[in-house]
Amino acid sequence: MDLIFKCPQCDQELEVDASGAGSEITCPACSQTITVPNPEPANIVNIPTPPLPLPPAPKEGKHFVVPVHDKPADELIQKASKPLDVAAKEGDKKLRIKTFKHTDCQEVGKDRFDEIISAFLDKVGQANIVSINPINYSYVEMVGHHVVTDYGILVVYRG
Ligand SMILES: [Zn+2]
Repeated sequence: MDLIFKCPQCDQELEVDASGAGSEITCPACSQTITVPNPEPANIVNIPTPPLPLPPAPKEGKHFVVPVHDKPADELIQKASKPLDVAAKEGDKKLRIKTFKHTDCQEVGKDRFDEIISAFLDKVGQANIVSINPINYSYVEMVGHHVVTDYGILVVYRG
């Protein structure tokens, strides 16, 4: 607890510990010897007052934490329901795969690989195509019995 008073000589505002009330001090501003006044409500600075509002603050903080936890829980329930609705609407369509081997798309003198896959993708529809994955496979050539590595495509789609 401090006393705040004004020097009677120079009007300088001074702050002195309350234990110094009634004692004589030298004013740091005018160097005159002055007497520290007795504590009065008007000139008492209650030092413990500022820290007091701080302890209730954590309690308020805890009260705020409760609604913060409630809100995400509600949001999670709402968010979870949306994917379920989507799954229900697409429930009639199953996830399927279609594998295209390059060699299966050969006609005499013609390579129809791109043409066949383009036609398939167009039939399935862009919205139903989950992924298109390149594949490699090996087979033994009919003529010459060489092991040949060729390529193909694996399409994952809903249909
Ligand atoms: Zn003074």
